[in-house]
Amino acid sequence: MRTVITVRDLAHLKGRGDKEFVAPADAILTPSARDFLRAQGVNVLFDGENASSHPASAKPAAGGAYVSTAAAVAKPKPEHAKLFNSKASQALKEQMICVGHRLWKREYVDGNGGNISVRIGENEVLCTPTLVSKGMLTVDDICMVDMEGNQLAGTQKRTSEIFLHLEIMKANPKARACVHAHPPHATAFAITDACVPSCMIPEMEVFVGKVAKSPYETPGTKAFAETILPFCKDHNTILLQNHGVITWANDVERAYWFMEVVDAYCRTVVIASHIGGHFTYMPSEKVGDLLKLKKGLDLPDARYDLKPADYCACEFRPGASCKSDGDKPAASDSSSNAMESVVQMVTDEVMRALAK
Ligand SMILES: [Zn+2]
Repeated sequence: MRTVITVRDLAHLKGRGDKEFVAPADAILTPSARDFLRAQGVNVLFDGENASSHPASAKPAAGGAYVSTAAAVAKPKPEHAKLFNSKASQALKEQMICVGHRLWKREYVDGNGGNISVRIGENEVLCTPTLVSKGMLTVDDICMVDMEGNQLAGTQKRTSEIFLHLEIMKANPKARACVHAHPPHATAFAITDACVPSCMIPEMEVFVGKVAKSPYETPGTKAFAETILPFCKDHNTILLQNHGVITWANDVERAYWFMEVVDAYCRTVVIASHIGGHFTYMPSEKVGDLLKLKKGLDLPDARYDLKPADYCACEFRPGASCKSDGDKPAASDSSSNAMESVVQMVTDEVMRALAK
């Protein structure tokens, strides 16, 4: 069983002035334990991660704590340190911190959930660390990894979900920044087989569009990272089944916007479903106007090559399931034909009634 370290286990460190705390390699620190160490100005290291940088004294100290004066988790090579500490990098780190704080304030992340990444070079990506609340992020927490997820710089350990971000960046060079979170309204759609409906609010159509849903896999694994591959060219927002949401853009501010847009939209749909009455959809040709505008903004959309009749394929009926394969629109010719015959039937009924 993995070691769980709580604030109580760390109480003896209060005011002692230790610079670092080395936890067993398999340990999990609770968010409040993390916060406590941060408040004490103590960095966390995991034993065995970088054995050469840990002196032999990295053993449990009196009271059961693992304390060491070891160097940072990743001692960067000079070229990596130069990039990591550059002015441009500092500015991006500050943007990432700002986004992290907004994710937490809007309750899009919980505990240590969520992560943020920004590509800074051909092979270098800045990312948030593991086991740190996004509400408490500081510039010093940010890590740098290569495109394979190996840590190049940063005193904290990089998020285990970085592979998801890297797969998107590798598959789509336009993806320079990714934001992953668990916003409750959009995530509610990710724990049902309902798809997020389209064609209800113009802003959603332009900035996000049709939302893809990738199948469930264990977070942090390679298999999980690969679930999004079919969707990252034609979508900028992907619901991760039974997990949360990932968005991407050419900068981190925009990737964050899409998170706000999708969650606000899902929230509105859920509220509307409680009002009663029928949902109304924008006419296909008007959606076509929005798609033209969107293309001009160089934003991806899976519907650019579709016929207008297929723009709004998924309708939302509260309480009814609405399966979607995410990437491909659910409406096929046969379902459009079926819909047309229903419309024809209703029209015939109305005409018959009027003729009486
Ligand atoms: Zn997650």
